[in-house]
Amino acid sequence: MSKLDDNLAALDGHLARFRETGILHRIAGADHANAATFDTLSPVDESVICQVARGTAADVDKAATAAHDAFPGWRDMPATERRAILIRIAEGIEGRAEEIALCECWDTGQAYKFMSKAALRGAENFRYFADQVIQARDGQHLKSPTLMNITARVPIGPVGVITPWNTPFMLSTWKIAPALAAGCTVVHKPAEASPLTARLLVEIAEEAGLPPGVLNTVNGFGEEAGKALCEHPKLKAIAFVGESRTGSQIVKQGADTLKRNHLELGGKNPVIVFDDADLDRALDAVIFMIYSINGERCTSSSRLLVQDTIRAEFEAKLVERVNRIKVGHPLDPATEVGPLISAEHFAKVTSYFDIAREDGATIAAGGARHGEAGYFVQPTLFTGATNDMRIAQEEIFGPVLTSIPFGTEKEALTLANDTAYGLTGYVWTNDLTRALRFTDRLEAGMIWVNSENVRHLPTPFGGVKASGIGRDGGDWSFEFYMEQKHIGFATGQHRITKLGAA
Ligand code: NAD
Repeated sequence: MSKLDDNLAALDGHLARFRETGILHRIAGADHANAATFDTLSPVDESVICQVARGTAADVDKAATAAHDAFPGWRDMPATERRAILIRIAEGIEGRAEEIALCECWDTGQAYKFMSKAALRGAENFRYFADQVIQARDGQHLKSPTLMNITARVPIGPVGVITPWNTPFMLSTWKIAPALAAGCTVVHKPAEASPLTARLLVEIAEEAGLPPGVLNTVNGFGEEAGKALCEHPKLKAIAFVGESRTGSQIVKQGADTLKRNHLELGGKNPVIVFDDADLDRALDAVIFMIYSINGERCTSSSRLLVQDTIRAEFEAKLVERVNRIKVGHPLDPATEVGPLISAEHFAKVTSYFDIAREDGATIAAGGARHGEAGYFVQPTLFTGATNDMRIAQEEIFGPVLTSIPFGTEKEALTLANDTAYGLTGYVWTNDLTRALRFTDRLEAGMIWVNSENVRHLPTPFGGVKASGIGRDGGDWSFEFYMEQKHIGFATGQHRITKLGAA
């Protein structure tokens, strides 16, 4: 048997229970069904994986109430005990990493090559934030002439977490781990297109000893369950990852209950390749950052800005490599690009092939569907593009790269910043002074020089402009999930201004 056959057989075993029961909500440690359900499909062959409970405002109310009721107990549990539970969750994820990876691939179309690592990164997120639990609430003492002022951080309360479908398990842990470490309780609504691994996460958490109601999962659609989450008065904040226009909806929906929002949104990230760079490494990174994870990656470098002196040679090498990228079954370990998530997303991504032609760009590689069934597309490269074209301005969110030439550093900077988004930027140059100057002026929340995106958990993750508000990572996560509290103690008999005493 090939590794693909092995993986398919193992997956079949893991899916049997979902076929039987469907995916139910998990609220206060118990399953909850709905009369209404929807199908989750595999993008590999468009088959139904299972039924999923379609959450309503009433389900969200139950889950928010459970999170509200569980909050004091979780907040007040000794930090060492909360830390131990988070470590056991990390161990539980590691123990079921293979199951998580297989289910994720089948549910999302992401290649096993990347999802096996993504499951383990989920465990790393829990381990990292477990280590932060002990000092998360520490504060400062800020002495004034008359007062001993102290600060403390306290968890904000029950929070809602809304996640997208592109790498759902890893992204969920990235939000839920710091929330739990802070002492918050959580209602999680995973994306309707990829509900499988959120169910595995809540099971693992409960098996690790997380008390009932601390993590609750409600499935369903954004405009129904997601909206109800944003509007619920018992939830104090919404941590959201998804599209920029949904982010704006999240803010509107949460206005009446004064929600605190953390928004991680879309991107149209530039990778700028100067002619003095290590071009072989730049080529590898350019390809990795747009064609891995099916290009369904918020930090993908979807706009290549390449210096005109090296453009022809660089693009020729790109075409050769892009044409060799292995598109195939996501459970085949050799596959580099799997199918896109859904029929709707497939239609969106492939519509840009005509848009590119209409706008006058050249399709230098790909530009068509791959195979007959499933939502597979060929890795695609557009050349001869200008920055005002739709293929240079809109987030396509697929394995599609737009290459734009530039002449001078000044021009590169203008093109790089000429976008509504500002999530990441990648700069390839061996001129240190230029790198310093350029990164100083580049409008992005995260920039890598002579590197692809290498995530280091203590660093801040997030975007500027339409790419988001707020930061994850390190202590920045706690800034969102916690409130600062100030307490001033009089150190003597300072003068209190007397009114009505004259
Ligand atoms: P999406 O905005 O369509 O959906 C994300 C989540 O929001 C889903 O769970 C959905 O059900 C929910 N939702 C939709 N409408 C809602 C509403 N009105 N109220 C509450 N919830 C609602 O995004 P998507 O298509 O699932 O994911 C792809 C997008 O996510 C891309 O734009 C990508 O760049 C972005 N993304 C950003 C980051 C980041 O860190 N910046 C990471 C991953 C993905």
